[in-house]
Amino acid sequence: MIRPQDLLCPKPEGLYCAPGDFYVDPVRPVDRAVITHGHADHARSGHGTVLATPETLAIMGERYGRDFTGQQQAIGYGETISHKGVEITLVPAGHVLGSAQAVVRWKGLTMVVSGDYKRRRDPTCPPFEPVPCDVFISEATFGLPVFRHPDDREEVARLLRSVQQFPERSHIIGAYALGKAQRIIRLLREAGWDRTIYVHGALERLNALYQKHGVDLGPLAPRHRGRQEELRR
Ligand SMILES: [Zn+2]
Repeated sequence: MIRPQDLLCPKPEGLYCAPGDFYVDPVRPVDRAVITHGHADHARSGHGTVLATPETLAIMGERYGRDFTGQQQAIGYGETISHKGVEITLVPAGHVLGSAQAVVRWKGLTMVVSGDYKRRRDPTCPPFEPVPCDVFISEATFGLPVFRHPDDREEVARLLRSVQQFPERSHIIGAYALGKAQRIIRLLREAGWDRTIYVHGALERLNALYQKHGVDLGPLAPRHRGRQEELRR
């Protein structure tokens, strides 16, 4: 009888798969890592080999430089690779571009490591896909019922109402550079805002990467080159 901890167990470096000899989202450099998505608390540089979606590898390359790992192994959503008898499949997590749940199968036992995920629609990445499994290892950053996020489209509509009401004022939105910023920009486009959006320099390369992967962010301009009058318009 196989126990879950025979397949995946916590170690100081991160969640370790002994039969496959790899880690999922390790916090320290390891020989072989499966990375769920590009956020810095999951994706670190210095591993021997990184297996991830092509988008996550591109994000890591953008953030850490091309030599962020010895070797890269890209697998698309739904593809399965077998390593030392352990099957690994990456399935959409609906969190940011390229984000994936790691589905690990071995001797009839299926375990899913969710990584960060959300079940709400996000116009910048494919939706979270539930996978039948024996053990689900879940992130739960906002898991407590006390967290009740409002409807994102309603929030964007509220923002655009304010822009209409106070056209002489700049509206500044603070958002995490990978994922959140592009989601808000995309939601603004869906709500009909087709004018230039000025962005902080820290967002430029990731915005370009999203665009390259087919997420249309519309007209953007760097904030530092935007004149004061432009911001007021
Ligand atoms: Zn994340």
